[in-house]
Amino acid sequence: MEKLTLLYEGKGKKLYTTNDANRVIAEFKDDLTAFNAHKKGSEAGKGSLNCQISSILFKLLEKNNIKTHFVEMLDCYNMLCKKVKIIPLEVVVRNIATGSLTKRLGIKDGEKLKFPLVEFYYKNDLLNDPILNDEHCKIINIVDNDKDINYIKDYARKINDILISFFMEKNLKLVDFKIEFGRDENNEIILSDEISPDSCRLWDKDTNKKMDKDIFRQSLGNVSDAYKEVLNRIK
Ligand code: UDP
Repeated sequence: MEKLTLLYEGKGKKLYTTNDANRVIAEFKDDLTAFNAHKKGSEAGKGSLNCQISSILFKLLEKNNIKTHFVEMLDCYNMLCKKVKIIPLEVVVRNIATGSLTKRLGIKDGEKLKFPLVEFYYKNDLLNDPILNDEHCKIINIVDNDKDINYIKDYARKINDILISFFMEKNLKLVDFKIEFGRDENNEIILSDEISPDSCRLWDKDTNKKMDKDIFRQSLGNVSDAYKEVLNRIK
């Protein structure tokens, strides 16, 4: 399968068309961005680590009956994916309070939440990705019925359950993560985008050491060593 034309370039990936109309190639970039791209950086090899980590996690989810856009990893930077129409929602699942939640609700950083919290944000850089409730989703026609909204929430909770226990076996706490969904050629909603330390918060189980993009957000050093350790623990 070969890359034909550049379809789209996002902050973390480039998407290329292929000779199969239902397949795209996602090339993972070494770029790092935070705070709606107000902070920018790059680390050689970061994209490759995320491509490998995402591939392992998508395979794990597929094995657990979660439908994803993942087809196969072509090489360390490139993933073959089903072509989907992305739903402009960032679905965040939180197990432990940190980041924007602590600021918004005043919950203590590191506090375990009573139950996994599912939140929606509108994937819209111009509006700064505002938080949305179910009715906002319907008002702006992102997801137009309760059935699809509940389907996405249930799917996000199932994905969380699978990932929590997988990471726990590797001595990693899944603090929170962001996922995106798309509609495939049959209009079915499937998990898309990536799941990597760029989009998850992972803390070492014993020391709570951060092993994710917060290292970049908070200028704590290079992310590559931490991402390499995540990959070594899960592969
Ligand atoms: N997240 C992401 N992309 C975004 C915003 C958040 O991947 O544009 C992830 C982030 O890595 C974390 C979770 O979603 O795992 C919750 O992030 P939060 O809302 O706390 O945002 P932040 O503190 O990064 O502003």
